[in-house]
Amino acid sequence: MSSAERWEPVIGLEIHVQLSTRTKMFCGCELSFGDDPNVHTCPVCLAHPGALPVPNEAAIDSAIKIGLALGCEIAPRSIFHRKNYFYPDSPKAYQISQYDVPICGAGRLGDVRIHRAHLEEDAAKLVHVSESGRIHDSGASLVDFNRGGTPLVEIVTEPDLHDAAQAREWLTLLRNTVRQLGVSDVNMEEGSLRCDANISLRPAGSSELGTKTELKNMNSFRFLERGVKAEIERQAALLDAGESVVQETLHFDPRSGSLTSLRSKEEAHDYRYFPEPDLVAVAPSEERIERIRAELPELPAERRARYSGELGLPADTATQLAFDAELAAFFESALGSRDGDRPEPRTLANWVTGELAPRLRDAGGSPEASKVTPAALASLAAMAEAKQVSSGSARQVLDHLVAEGGDPARIVEREGLGQIEGDSGELAELVAAAIEANPDAAESIRNGRMQAIGPIMGAVMRETKGRADGGEVTRLVREQLGLG
Ligand SMILES: [Zn+2]
Repeated sequence: MSSAERWEPVIGLEIHVQLSTRTKMFCGCELSFGDDPNVHTCPVCLAHPGALPVPNEAAIDSAIKIGLALGCEIAPRSIFHRKNYFYPDSPKAYQISQYDVPICGAGRLGDVRIHRAHLEEDAAKLVHVSESGRIHDSGASLVDFNRGGTPLVEIVTEPDLHDAAQAREWLTLLRNTVRQLGVSDVNMEEGSLRCDANISLRPAGSSELGTKTELKNMNSFRFLERGVKAEIERQAALLDAGESVVQETLHFDPRSGSLTSLRSKEEAHDYRYFPEPDLVAVAPSEERIERIRAELPELPAERRARYSGELGLPADTATQLAFDAELAAFFESALGSRDGDRPEPRTLANWVTGELAPRLRDAGGSPEASKVTPAALASLAAMAEAKQVSSGSARQVLDHLVAEGGDPARIVEREGLGQIEGDSGELAELVAAAIEANPDAAESIRNGRMQAIGPIMGAVMRETKGRADGGEVTRLVREQLGLG
């Protein structure tokens, strides 16, 4: 039995979503990034004596919206606590957070249960002055309080994930869901989405949880997947050697692929949480919650279900479209396009995900900004489906559309890309010539090896510049070789 079969990984995620409200969580300072350090500060976020926090109602609405999108119960009454710790990024020496009564209770997104989601304020930003930018070899550290007090929603999952790729995929679903709500930029590279992973291993088949470690601050989806995988392998090697896992907080260095220990894990009692005496409870009315619920857009998971159910798209295509809001908007607009013939949803979806999306990615563009209109793509997909153009020609037409826009039918005419009609006689002549030029292939086909058609097909496609229909060429080859 391999190590991977012996141990089952159990993974839970803690995600911090930075809300894009106009002002900070407990004061009126503007939330603005990239400005000079310490220009967005006031007595409240700098913790001057006697300064009192006032909750940001827009941030509370955003937290409720996230909770509703994750199927969470919204607490009729939640309270803020002080989480006490001393660190230079927190001028108060405590962080206002939520402890035992969070604003969003249990929920679910896809296959993963949500344990809770709560509101808190972000710490300030430390800038370590050194070449690496890391604290270990820095001569000095500077503090920028512009970020201090930014509203965050911390989402904690149940340990329902079981491998690194699944963790990455689920985090993508979460990111796309929150993005759809318009309450955050949810950009991992810029720190508006931050993810920690709690990882433990247990003997396969066991239901008890092993000792967990916490992997901190992974700043891209790829690093999350790599970090989780590395930590699973590290723990499996320890357990295989009969050693035990120590509960600690780890950092994954994507450059070296190594894991380093930051500190042994704190316990909740180390923070000496107590209720924040300067803030009253958050008690949203039913009307307020229902008003926010009514604002919820169609979410990626719902959209995926609709695409695979109503439209009959294959699961991976449905996921790829549904999780990308821009691609989904383009697809829906093409689907609803009234110009000319309309392709089957499945055909159209394949053109959007399999042909258009990779071309736009290569060009660094988005569907919205592209020269290809949804109606043009729908009409091209319909032409290809009706075999008015060969699939090779249709791809060439799409290249033209991406570069210059326009109408696919005109491009077909201008470039002479129309399908060669099977009954025109022209194609039959080309097939006959190709068979003559490839006697070995023809002999194999006569002996029942249809897969030997490659060279003959290739010759016909070269002659026609891809304008022949592959199915028609195959039919003609069989006919001319007397296979019926
Ligand atoms: Zn302030």
